[in-house]
Amino acid sequence: MTKLNYEIPKHGEFNELRKDLYWTQFELPFRLNHVNLYFLNTKNGWILIDSGLRSDHSIEMWEKILNGPLKSEKIHSLLITHYHPDHIGMAGWLQKKLNVPAFTSSKELEVAKKLLVMPDEDYSIMFDNIFQRSGIPKEQKQEMLGATRLYKNKVFNLPDFKIISEGFEIESNEGMWKVRTDVGHSPEHISLTDKKRSLYLAGDFLLPRISPNVSDNFFDPFDDRLGGYLNYLNDIKTINSEVEVFPCHDWPFKDGDSRAVELINHHNQRLDILKNELLKKNITVYDSLSLIFDRKIGNEQMHFAIGEARSHLINLVKTGYAKKISDSNKVEWFSLNN
Ligand SMILES: [Zn+2]
Repeated sequence: MTKLNYEIPKHGEFNELRKDLYWTQFELPFRLNHVNLYFLNTKNGWILIDSGLRSDHSIEMWEKILNGPLKSEKIHSLLITHYHPDHIGMAGWLQKKLNVPAFTSSKELEVAKKLLVMPDEDYSIMFDNIFQRSGIPKEQKQEMLGATRLYKNKVFNLPDFKIISEGFEIESNEGMWKVRTDVGHSPEHISLTDKKRSLYLAGDFLLPRISPNVSDNFFDPFDDRLGGYLNYLNDIKTINSEVEVFPCHDWPFKDGDSRAVELINHHNQRLDILKNELLKKNITVYDSLSLIFDRKIGNEQMHFAIGEARSHLINLVKTGYAKKISDSNKVEWFSLNN
């Protein structure tokens, strides 16, 4: 991965990447403290790519941009890469304000809708089940449930979405972009490639510094998210090193092919560690945390860590290496499949 020399925008600043491609950064109140948003200019107006987390800060930033660089510019539409709150959170607010169409993929919309309409009680039952099956100790489980934040607090009511899928094309003023959709960090994540200009808007799937969280799937717990992500990375490792990658977190970079290889190795290492452990004993998702993470996991990170760990174990089940049974306390145990 080689960092490219673009100036990182201050919050709400509108920086040029190409004549028809701009970016900004909004603040996030998390350990990952910012998100990148992109703006694509077309002959029918600007496409706003991602919207930021539902927050006063995001409102302030949007006001600044819409009354600043985009004042008297035509806005064509919103395009949301995936259902996570830091991307979709402001979409409803923006549509209300701008009255423009919004686009995302079918599975991203499905998950966002489910999480948003879910009654608070069901939401905590869902997390209770996730923590319970992981084998997390009881007291820690209670603490974790207390720390869980509701999706709806981070996401405005959704706009009316139009669905796009793999292969959808967008013509910008200077290029032609093709949508690709992939499984991994989320179920049908959208990223955009301009092949001719060697540009890639990677969303959250190819990040220069962090390994995108491969989350567990709330609604289809046997979905092999990691397998999907490894397929994606195996494809991305064949892209040209010169492709400029514009991610939704951190900075633009090239050598995305070698970054993909790094990420493949990272996940394979974790799979190997788990395989070795399974040769010795049966484990729960909770047991696996200390094996694959070299740092202590705070409450806020715990459900990501559990999801990440479980996605590796589920991958071992899907590839036939492991099997999984639930005990009478509904805790999942993974063992060697022999
Ligand atoms: Zn995300």
